[in-house]
Amino acid sequence: MKFVSTRDVEKKNPIGFVAAALQGLAPDGGLYMQDTEIDLRDLFLSFPADVSFVEMASAISHALFPDEFSSEEAREICAQAFPFAPAIRTLSDEILLLELFHGPSCAFKDFGASYLATIMSQHLQKQDKKLVLLVATSGDTGSAVAQAFYQKKNIEVVILYPSKQVSALQELQLCGLKKNIHACEVLGDFDDCQRMVKECFLDKELRSRYLLSSANSINIGRLIPQAFYYIYAWKKLEQERDWIFCTPSGNFGNLSAGLLAMRWGLPVQNFIAATNKNKVVPLFLESGVYRPEKSLSSLANAMDVGSPSNFERMQKMFPNLDSGLDAGASLGAGANLGASANSEEQIRKILFGAWADDAQISEEIRSTYELNKVFLCPHTAAGVHVAKTVLARLKDRARSKDDSSQPKQAYKRSVVLATAHAGKFSDVIEKIVPADLALPERLAKFLSIKKESHVLESSKEALKKLFSTIL
Ligand SMILES: *Cc1c(COP(=O)(O)O)cnc(C)c1O
Repeated sequence: MKFVSTRDVEKKNPIGFVAAALQGLAPDGGLYMQDTEIDLRDLFLSFPADVSFVEMASAISHALFPDEFSSEEAREICAQAFPFAPAIRTLSDEILLLELFHGPSCAFKDFGASYLATIMSQHLQKQDKKLVLLVATSGDTGSAVAQAFYQKKNIEVVILYPSKQVSALQELQLCGLKKNIHACEVLGDFDDCQRMVKECFLDKELRSRYLLSSANSINIGRLIPQAFYYIYAWKKLEQERDWIFCTPSGNFGNLSAGLLAMRWGLPVQNFIAATNKNKVVPLFLESGVYRPEKSLSSLANAMDVGSPSNFERMQKMFPNLDSGLDAGASLGAGANLGASANSEEQIRKILFGAWADDAQISEEIRSTYELNKVFLCPHTAAGVHVAKTVLARLKDRARSKDDSSQPKQAYKRSVVLATAHAGKFSDVIEKIVPADLALPERLAKFLSIKKESHVLESSKEALKKLFSTIL
C-alpha cells in the first residue's frame, strides 16, 4: 500500500508507509492518505474469536504492507509495541466501553505512539541513522510520545510544552523520564511551542545537520494502529450486530482510524462522532456546512479543538465516490449512493453526531458512578452522553417511520471508546463524585520524581542553542 498527500491532487508522489511515517506532514503541507484500495474483509472474518490483540495487529500490519513488513517482522513490531491491550466492559444494556487506557500513559494515544516509535526505531537502526523527533504538546500527546519513545534506539526526542500551562502530573510525565527524552519548558503558550517546531523544520542549517521528524496526531504511523482496536472490538462482539461505535473526538484522528478500518472492509456501516461544546463537526453533519471556530475550553480538554486537523483527511476518505466507481463492497450496505454523490455527502450518511456540554459531562460522570460504581474520564463521559442521545434519536425516527434518515441497520447499543483513565483527570472528577479515585500505579510513580527540564525563551534561536548542547 502506498500513500499520497491530500494536496497531491494528481497523485504524483506515492510513498511507502515507513517513509510517510518518518515524514509526518507531507512536504506540500498535506496529510498522507492511502492511495490504493485494499479489501481485508476475509482476513477480519477469519480471525478466531479468542484472537489476541498482538496476533490480530501483526496479521493486519503484514496484510497492509507486505512489501515493508514480512509476517515475522510484523509480529516482532506488534509484540514490542503492544505489551498492553484494549478491554471491553459492559456498562448497561445500552452502553459498552472499549477501554483504551491500559497503556503506559493511560490514554488511547499510547497505541499510535508506541507503534510509531517501534517502526521508526527499527528502520533507523537498519539504516544506522539517528533521528531527532520534535514535538509540541499541550499535555496529553507529549506524555504518550515520551513513554513510547523512551529508550528507543537511534531517536532523541525534544518535547516543547508551555510553562505553567500543563497539569503538575503531566509535567512530571514529560520531565521524569530523561535519557533520550528532553523536556523543554517554553516561556510562552502552546502556539509558541508549535511555531518554534515549525520554524525548526524550515531551518536549512538544522535540516542539514539532523534528520528531523514529528509525531503529532496527523502522522499516518499513529493513525493506522488505531484502526486495529476497532477491528478487535468488532471481532470480540461479532455474535451481536446491534451496536454502533461512538468516538469522543477533538482532532478526529481516532474517528478517522475507524473510517479506515471500514475502508479496509470492516463490516460496519455507521459511527457516532461525539464532541464537547466544540461542535463544528456535529453542526456540519446537521447542516452540511463546515465552519471552523476558535476553540472553547471545556471539562474534556483533550477535545477542545475548534478546527479539527483530520477533517481534511475525512473528506478524502472515500475517493472512489467522486469518480463514480462502486465503493459499496468496502463501504458496507449503507453506502450505495449515486455516482454524483461527493465525499461530504458520503460522510454525512455514515456519521451521526452530537455534543455534550460541561453540565451534561458532569451529570454523566455522576450518574455512571452512582449506578455502576465506574469512573468515566470527562472525554468518555461526553461519548456516553452522546451515544445515548443518538440512540434515542434513532429510536424516535424509527417510530415516526421516516425512512429517508433511518440507517439500514437498527442500533440498540453503542460501543463507546473510553479514551483515558479517569485517574488522569481526578481534579475534575473529585468535584463531581465524592469518592476516592486512585491513580494507577504507572502514573502515581511520577508524583515522587524530581522535575528536570530545560527552560527556554520562546524563540527558534533558543531552541537551536539547546540542540547544540544536548544532541
Ligand atoms: C486526544 C484525546 C481525545 C481526542 O482524540 P482525537 O483523535 O484528537 O479526536 C479524546 N480523549 C482523550 C483522553 C484524548 O487524549
